[in-house]
Amino acid sequence: MNIACIAHDTKKDDLVQFMIAYEHLLKDHCLFATGTTGTRIMEATSLPLTRFKSGPLGGDQQIGAEIAENNMDLVFFFRDPLTAQPHEPDINALIRLCDVYSVPLATNMATAEVLVAALARGDLGWRDLVHGKSRKPSDS
Ligand code: PGA
Repeated sequence: MNIACIAHDTKKDDLVQFMIAYEHLLKDHCLFATGTTGTRIMEATSLPLTRFKSGPLGGDQQIGAEIAENNMDLVFFFRDPLTAQPHEPDINALIRLCDVYSVPLATNMATAEVLVAALARGDLGWRDLVHGKSRKPSDS
C-alpha cells in the first residue's frame, strides 16, 4: 500500500509516536510524507519514505495530485483543528480528494489507530483491486 503521512506542527509529535509504535507494520508499505513531517519521521524511525515539499509550499497539493491519480491507498493527516493554516485551501482540497476517490483518511490519532488495525488485518486489500497493484507515484 502507498501511505501518505502529514501532520501539522502541533500534531507532529503525535504522528511520530504513532509511526514509532507501528514501525513494524508500516515498514512493509511505501511511505510518503510532506517535507517537515517526513524529516521528523526519518529522524525517529528507520522507515524509508519519499518526501514531498513542505505542506505550505505545495506538499499537500503534491499528495492531492497523487490521490487524484489513485496512487495513494491510505492517508494519515494529523491536522490541527485549533490553528489557522496559511494553506487551508490545499488542506481542504486534499481531504476532498480522499472523499472523491474513496481513499481511507485519518485526521486524528483515534481514527489512525482504527485504520492501522484494519491495515494489519488486511481489510484494505480492496485498494489493490482499485488499481491492480501498489504503485509508486513515479510509476504512473
Ligand atoms: P510539513 O507540512 O510536513 O512540511 O510541515 C504539513 C502541513 O502543514 O500541511
